[in-house]
Amino acid sequence: MTLYKKQIEQLVALQQIDHEIFNIRQEIKKLPQEVSEMEKQFAAINEERSRISDKMEYLTSQEKRVNSDIEEDVRRIEDSKNKMMQVENTREYHAMIREVDNMERANRTREEEKMILMEEIQRQQDLFADVDARYNEVKAEYELKSRNLQSKLDEMNAELSKLMERRADSAREVPPPVLSRYEFIRERLENPVIVPVANCVCKGCNIAIPPQTFIELQKIQQILSCPNCQRLIYWEEHFDPSAAFRRTAQSEQSGQSEATETEGSEE
Ligand SMILES: [Zn+2]
Repeated sequence: MTLYKKQIEQLVALQQIDHEIFNIRQEIKKLPQEVSEMEKQFAAINEERSRISDKMEYLTSQEKRVNSDIEEDVRRIEDSKNKMMQVENTREYHAMIREVDNMERANRTREEEKMILMEEIQRQQDLFADVDARYNEVKAEYELKSRNLQSKLDEMNAELSKLMERRADSAREVPPPVLSRYEFIRERLENPVIVPVANCVCKGCNIAIPPQTFIELQKIQQILSCPNCQRLIYWEEHFDPSAAFRRTAQSEQSGQSEATETEGSEE
């Protein structure tokens, strides 16, 4: 194997590890965010649940008050009716009938109030049952997630340190000047750092590389960078013979020669 090919392969191997490191770091970052998102959801539903519960408590106390008012009225009406029996004066009797009428009317209003309260209590109870079911679901999920958070983080951090060890081993195999070029790009660019060029297109930025760069790339002399995104590039056909086969099949299908493809992607 030529030195060039060996270096590219070492870099691709390093890139593979860096890719795994990148993914696991993303997950380590995402996990606590998920839990705090869950916490917010739980707080919101908890608040909704207490609000309905407070409302039900208030309505129930209102209902109690109305009930005792009604009982009180019934007693007073009863008293008045008893007194009415003892009245001998007609005028006084009529006055008492009016009084009883008024009391009975007031009591009917209270009964209506009571009906409205009972309906509202029923409505809030149904609402509470719904919210309570959701509350229990969210609570269980939130508790599970926060309980598992630390162990999952520990697990992922352990995996990360294993990857870091593998990375160190892998990096030791790359010649220092090549490695420092790789690291220089890695610090400035999103993952990945080294990418194949397929059909004259850089797989890092998906932009066609100039024909001159492509010719240089095929010569297998030095590691080149994509003029557009600066990522290290290699020609995929040097490392994947089946790519050449695929390309031939493609150009035969479309009836295009390689030369026109190169010209076409120049724009
Ligand atoms: Zn590029």
